[in-house]
Amino acid sequence: MSDSSRFNPEISDLSPHTVACLKPDIGGPTPLVESICQSTTYVQKELSSEVTCTYSRVDNPTVAALETTLGRLENAPPAVCFSSGLAAETALFLALLRAGDHIVLSQAIYGGTVRLIRELFSGLGVEADFVDATDPDNIARVIRHNTKLVFIETPANPTLCLNDIEAISEITQSHGIPLAVDNTFLTPVLQQPMELGADISVYSTTKHIEGHSAALGGALVTRDEDLLERLRWVRKSTGTIQTPQNAWVTLRGIKTLPLRIQQHSRHAVVIAHALADDPRLITVNYPGLESFPQSELAARQHRGGHGGVISFEIEGGYETTCRFLKAVKLCTLVEHIGSVETLLTHPASMTHADVPRDQLAAVGLTPGLVRLSVGLEDPHDILADLFAAIDVAVVETHTIGKGEPACVNAV
Ligand code: PLP
Repeated sequence: MSDSSRFNPEISDLSPHTVACLKPDIGGPTPLVESICQSTTYVQKELSSEVTCTYSRVDNPTVAALETTLGRLENAPPAVCFSSGLAAETALFLALLRAGDHIVLSQAIYGGTVRLIRELFSGLGVEADFVDATDPDNIARVIRHNTKLVFIETPANPTLCLNDIEAISEITQSHGIPLAVDNTFLTPVLQQPMELGADISVYSTTKHIEGHSAALGGALVTRDEDLLERLRWVRKSTGTIQTPQNAWVTLRGIKTLPLRIQQHSRHAVVIAHALADDPRLITVNYPGLESFPQSELAARQHRGGHGGVISFEIEGGYETTCRFLKAVKLCTLVEHIGSVETLLTHPASMTHADVPRDQLAAVGLTPGLVRLSVGLEDPHDILADLFAAIDVAVVETHTIGKGEPACVNAV
């Protein structure tokens, strides 16, 4: 039998090949800020089934720190974090749905979710109904014996229409079906889906939660311990955990999330009102406007603000929109929301390009609709840029007509 205690060499006795591989155990102070644990794997002192952290596809201390914070924000156990919002949704669907099962979704929803269900899970034998969930009865009407999940998004991307979480959860609970709510637009600071009766909160942490356009990520939060275990198992099996680097960047972003999302909301109220007062805008969607058709639900369901996203359409439709998007100077055209900068998106050709045209038409997502994610710049500077670009776009459409639009993207 070998006696390993006899092998206790001085560093100077070891080969440089060995020294280069040694873990530098420097001891030292406890950092105030969470460290990035970049290791793929963890030392196991002996063979034991009690070991908690083994391999970073399964667990990682930096990711675990983020999961604890996200869980705490919803009075829930640690969340399960993924490489992106869509990876989180994929894990949820894999955990709860099998061939022959049925899912009900709100029809006003992020385009990537539509693509995932219509083009991927339908091929695996999952049946789906997209319904107008602004009326909860529409959900009740399509629930069947094989319905295994109801998935809604509120406020919806990009039309901002709302779903009544409390009313819908009464329906899902009476059927024993879990209700998942994509809460990406409001974050746990402004809306608490589980307090309103939902079972799972879904996040693209890529957006407001990280808040600086620097790290992709997704998260699922639930108080159902069995589901948490199943989600971790799916994540381990599919290899979709968030990277430690992105978890660390997201953790840093979360520290200012309450401040940012409240400020985004304050700026958005100012901007939405100014846009709504301009007769050249034919639609302005924002839950904080008195004219918003579901303002009563917004007041009941949101707490302390309505988020930073607005959508609107300028007279003249798609051509004017293209000219407007080209004319802005401070605001930036990107496929993203929730950052410190003010961002513009053309949903019909970007985030929702893969959604069937009839579904887009049903939710009022017209080719001319613009999505505005209000940043932290002075709202008066943002408005000056928006109105200057609207002036250019409207004048060009009137003088040049509806000919060749100045847009880079095809609808
Ligand atoms: N949910 C919503 C509401 C989104 O807007 C997005 C992306 O834009 C996603 C989910 C997907 O998130 P990710 O881009 O992190 O995969």
